[in-house]
Amino acid sequence: MTDLPNIRLPVDLKPTDGRFGSGPSKVRVEAVERLAATGKTLLGTSHRRPAVVGLVEKLRDGLGDLFSLPDGYEVLVGLGGATAFWDAATFSLIERRSQHVVIGEFSSKFAAAVSGAPHLETPEVIQAEYGHVERPVASDEIDTYALIHNETSTGVMVPIERPATDGLVVVDATSAAGALPVDPHQFDAYYFSPQKAFGSEGGMWAALCSPAAITRITELTGGDRWIPPFLDLGIALTNSRKNQTYNTPALATLALFVDQVEWMNDSGGLTWATERCASSARTIYGWAEAAGYAQPFVTDPDARSATVATIDFDDSVPAAEVSGVLRANGIVDTESYRKLGRNQLRIALFPAIDPHDVEILTAAIDHIVERL
Ligand SMILES: *Cc1c(COP(=O)(O)O)cnc(C)c1O
Repeated sequence: MTDLPNIRLPVDLKPTDGRFGSGPSKVRVEAVERLAATGKTLLGTSHRRPAVVGLVEKLRDGLGDLFSLPDGYEVLVGLGGATAFWDAATFSLIERRSQHVVIGEFSSKFAAAVSGAPHLETPEVIQAEYGHVERPVASDEIDTYALIHNETSTGVMVPIERPATDGLVVVDATSAAGALPVDPHQFDAYYFSPQKAFGSEGGMWAALCSPAAITRITELTGGDRWIPPFLDLGIALTNSRKNQTYNTPALATLALFVDQVEWMNDSGGLTWATERCASSARTIYGWAEAAGYAQPFVTDPDARSATVATIDFDDSVPAAEVSGVLRANGIVDTESYRKLGRNQLRIALFPAIDPHDVEILTAAIDHIVERL
């Protein structure tokens, strides 16, 4: 993009915060300030000591409250993000054969990671056309159903419903957890990284695990299978129960994560957070449907994500130029997912993002498109 048109947005078309990235996503300034205010008391202190153990405890308790976890469910934490959790699940959750509902790049990556595992059978893959939804199919051959609650690459959301079978339901909730409604009875492991709806930094994963998932983990990790310790969810379970991680965590990630969970719980919990995202979603999709030059990429209104909106532009409006001008005006990370290769903007609607800022953003886009 060498010759971007020089369009300056007037002040009333500038959101109070210009971060609309789908991950890393907006980290609340108040949370960063509270972290900075810990000064000499947190960063640079031992992760085995009370201040830090207290953070992990607050995180696990806070997530339990936020998701109203039923008795027997436990919150596991570990390092390496959702990507590391895919490998951990390959060793510690899938017994023999998994089924993967693939609706975009992230769900396809988990399927690919499992496909190479010598100790597992070739997984079954149910592949959707990108922009659309598919559902798992109950089967006697399958012991683990790998679902995704929100596909960040395409902006498609799928309600989490257990297939009629006793296989484990393992859900990538990285861009859904804390922003979309979910019933814990419908999943066995609901895992995510904190740099999306939890407005923190990357490098960690959290997994909400049902008693059935805990049993599977205990059996597989206590058996004959060779498991790299870093990917051993049995070790993660033991450490999580002591409110620690197996190896050294990023304390800043942890502190920002706890801050966001407490902010959500104090503001009205998951219902509040999901309604905030739904309100931003009504704004953005309503605007796109009314705009003469844009439309939601996802045709089924029920599948349009309330956390990551993908908006296609007519060929006459180059989306890369629009996101470039937005960026020049301090509104960043609205570019589409590169591998999807569409003339599109992708706009995050996570709880940290003020719904009013989403309204301003749509007006800013109109203003730019009129002047291209
Ligand atoms: C971002 C993302 C991931 C990868 O998360 P990392 O923390 O980078 O490992 C996986 N799944 C989904 C749905 C995501 O949005």
